[in-house]
Amino acid sequence: MVRVAGEQGYTRRLSGGIRLVQQRLAIHGGAPVRPSLLPYGRHEIDDDDVLAVTEALRSGWITTGPRVAAFESAVADLAGARHAVAFSSGTAALHAAAFAAGLGPGDEAVTTPLTFCATANCVLYQGATPVFADVSPDTLNLDPDRLAERLTSRTKAILAVDFTGHPADLDAIRDLADRHGAVLIEDACHALGARYRGRPVGSISRMTVFSFHPVKHVTTGEGGMVTTDDPGLAGRLRTFRNHGLDSDANQREARGQWRYDMVSLGYNYRLADLGCALGSSQLRKLPANLARRRRIAQRYTTALASIPGVRTPVVRADVDPAWHLYVIRLEKGLRGRRDDVLAALKAENIGANVHYEAVHRLRYYRERFGYRGGEYPVAEDASDHLVTLPLFPGLSDDDVSDVLAAVEKVVGHFLP
Ligand SMILES: *Cc1c(COP(=O)(O)O)cnc(C)c1O
Repeated sequence: MVRVAGEQGYTRRLSGGIRLVQQRLAIHGGAPVRPSLLPYGRHEIDDDDVLAVTEALRSGWITTGPRVAAFESAVADLAGARHAVAFSSGTAALHAAAFAAGLGPGDEAVTTPLTFCATANCVLYQGATPVFADVSPDTLNLDPDRLAERLTSRTKAILAVDFTGHPADLDAIRDLADRHGAVLIEDACHALGARYRGRPVGSISRMTVFSFHPVKHVTTGEGGMVTTDDPGLAGRLRTFRNHGLDSDANQREARGQWRYDMVSLGYNYRLADLGCALGSSQLRKLPANLARRRRIAQRYTTALASIPGVRTPVVRADVDPAWHLYVIRLEKGLRGRRDDVLAALKAENIGANVHYEAVHRLRYYRERFGYRGGEYPVAEDASDHLVTLPLFPGLSDDDVSDVLAAVEKVVGHFLP
């Protein structure tokens, strides 16, 4: 290949006489694809949301009140679950699920390394040990065959993650959990509104965890939820959220009785009425939000199919993903590392990101458990080559075009 330097960039002559005009990258002093930075995710607040929160502020209830129960029942309906218990964050919800599953010292919980660290940390909070199993090369979700190899007499829970909003192999994983007597906890922080074999995520696992952090589909500022069909688990979750007390202040007031008891060690993990007012208002826009995300993902996938050097996400036939993230994989053999591509995209004002550094390669996990890398090759290879492109409902068609132009320009530059 010959490069001919020019004002705007250079012409590349590929084999077979093909000429390609390659624009000079912004990171090398060329003009960026767009003038302002596009983030990878962004929440949206409209007038209805502002009104809902203002009403809550004027209502006399600030924290645990009617809006918590209303938001819980709206999420339970959406998820097709009998119970939903709200928490102050997705992480608190994971911690509560680990508690309700009975995890304690000496127990193990098996999870994927390709997730946010909170999925594994909740096992540590309970004094139990997180064990990792590698992911499937197509969806990058927990591989049931690898999972089966990691189950032992100490396994008390399995923590499956619906990576990017694509449901995990839930039937196969649930079978393994049932046969092994382990509790299946699904970290669906990416997957609110996703469907698996026709069923809504939130109705399949023993407990399903959602997050309402602003980057997720629906926000309460900070917040989380656990859905379950099991009334016993729901009771344990509610107790855990409120210091381990056997009643909350409203119940005591209703009974006209001050007396309370503490039955287990809990925390203050309550989600306020204010946040739930916002959550219920946001939830009404979820169908439109999901539809817009799906359309953007389709456009990315169609356009990126003709760009060499990148692989688009795999969607299995039996799922309807929630498209929290749009993650491409860079082909091996590019003249540059993934982080060079990220830096070049950033200079083009495209805020690409990485989800995730494999958890066992984080310093705390390396030092505490002695991981050296190489233990989970599929997850590690993904972790080294993934790029998360901007995806949120507020992206305009022009924004999507900018992302595609930048990917073509940057990856084109790094092609061999
Ligand atoms: C966001 C997220 C969490 C944590 O949720 P917070 O509400 O931020 O505490 C946990 N797991 C996954 C996979 C997430 O994406």
